[in-house]
Amino acid sequence: MFTKHSGGLRLLTVHAHPDDESSKGAATLARYAAEGVEVLVATCTGGERGSVLNPALDRPEVRADLTRIRREEMEAAREVLGVRQQFLGFVDSGMPGPDEPLPEGCFAAQPLEVAAAPLVALIREFRPHVVITYDETGGYPHPDHVMTHKVAVEAFEAAADPKRHPEAGEPWQAVKLYYHLALSRAWFQTLHDAMTERGVASEMGELLAGWPDTPPALATTTRIECAEQFAVRDAAMLAHATQVQPGVAFMAHPRDIEREVWPTEDYHLARSFVSGPGNPVPTAGAVGAVENDLFAGVRAAEGAWARCSNRAG
Ligand SMILES: [Zn+2]
Repeated sequence: MFTKHSGGLRLLTVHAHPDDESSKGAATLARYAAEGVEVLVATCTGGERGSVLNPALDRPEVRADLTRIRREEMEAAREVLGVRQQFLGFVDSGMPGPDEPLPEGCFAAQPLEVAAAPLVALIREFRPHVVITYDETGGYPHPDHVMTHKVAVEAFEAAADPKRHPEAGEPWQAVKLYYHLALSRAWFQTLHDAMTERGVASEMGELLAGWPDTPPALATTTRIECAEQFAVRDAAMLAHATQVQPGVAFMAHPRDIEREVWPTEDYHLARSFVSGPGNPVPTAGAVGAVENDLFAGVRAAEGAWARCSNRAG
């Protein structure tokens, strides 16, 4: 069970399934954890309805025990990243076909208030300064990813409101909310071009050919340098062994090329209250220069609050 935070800067990232934390923003988590930031991954579902994407493990006994195996994989990935992790207890919705209903009782079929309640309690307990989640498209059209976005935004707001979920602890206003811009078309195109220029065969061409080159909906407000953590990110992804599809396009590129041409993980700042506690002033998402730190504007304020409370105490 998760235990209360111990002070200092805190980062919470909210994901749909075990493995999502390792495929989107994992190097960022590893970097901040290594710097001493408290990092917590909240995983909405247990990934019970995920498929076994690794043919080497696609056996009846693995499929029959997938819930337990995915928990073990999550624990291994958590260890690799050097972070904490908590499941929020919902059941994977699976990927229903176009005319198929959602399975009864699954995460995406929950009323929003019910689905957000465990995350509200977790935010009030952990008291993150920064929260990261998916944008409103979910990053890809899995019902649990779209629901994770809704739940994270709802909980970001509700956790700060004393009138909401009064049973779930003292209100807490997280200072910034970010959306992942991971696995963008620009990222694939840049890597594909760099590989092609260097005479390296690229697996990304087919994917790019079917992906319209339209401008991204959300501005990149924040780029986190984390090339040094790409090896940790890869190891965390591989820890989710049942979810590793050999040769999948987003894993199949030389890492030295990635470190050279795209050494960052990128984010969109969706909400910001960096002016300090008690007097939050929201700022627009994309203002001014691109940040290179998720805690930009938070570190100074946090230091000042700590000094104030030291003087007071
Ligand atoms: Zn997922």
